Amino acid sequence: MPPRPGEEGDNPFDDKAIEKGRHLFAQACTFMRGVASPDQFPETDTTETSFAGRSNVGKSSLINALTGHRSLARTSNTPGRTRQINFFDLGAMLILADLPGYGYARASKVDIAAWTALVNIYLQGRASLRRAMLLIDARHGIKDPDRKVMAMLDEAAVTYQVVLTQADKEKTGILAARIEVVKKELAGHPAAYPDILCTSARTGAGIPELRATLAALAAF
Ligand code: GDP
Repeated sequence: MPPRPGEEGDNPFDDKAIEKGRHLFAQACTFMRGVASPDQFPETDTTETSFAGRSNVGKSSLINALTGHRSLARTSNTPGRTRQINFFDLGAMLILADLPGYGYARASKVDIAAWTALVNIYLQGRASLRRAMLLIDARHGIKDPDRKVMAMLDEAAVTYQVVLTQADKEKTGILAARIEVVKKELAGHPAAYPDILCTSARTGAGIPELRATLAALAAF
């Protein structure tokens, strides 16, 4: 099978890896807590991954597609809870941390400062955080607000992997070119994982591969 967009020629997603991902995400996923203050981060040594992205990137849709819930992430993103980090437990094997979206055009300076302080403390002190997933809209590529977050991740030495979202909205040829541009930019970032994943919550494309990636992180 030829490599799919975002993959290296050598397909790391063999049947066994895909099956592990499917099995992990067949576990019950439950909301643990929403946290606005660092002293409330759950104390756990379960492997953790986090999802970060500009607001509207498709983060809730992706988390719901991954976990097979229709409204797991959306429920916790109701107004008033959007400045929180929402923690979900996946079968006591992996914790998913849904970071508040960033890059709102109308965000106040106070909001941005609060977001930055909370996320910085989270990134710098979370020993169980194996890899952050940085969600980038497949139609837009990396934008300046994403670059600020990449700088935070580099600074905190947290490995991060780019996951392109809403790939179904972009033409295949343009998508392939955009993937190359994103990869080139990532090469200049010490904490960036070189491979990127290309997903669509709408069609399900890339979801088995993202599940497999997360299962490998959880050493499951
Ligand atoms: P969030 O703000 O990052 O949590 O973004 P949402 O998950 O709420 O998605 C923002 C908008 O994009 C919504 O209207 C979704 O229905 C739409 N959307 C999200 N993912 C996809 C996708 O993979 N394909 C398409 N076509 N639309 C999507």
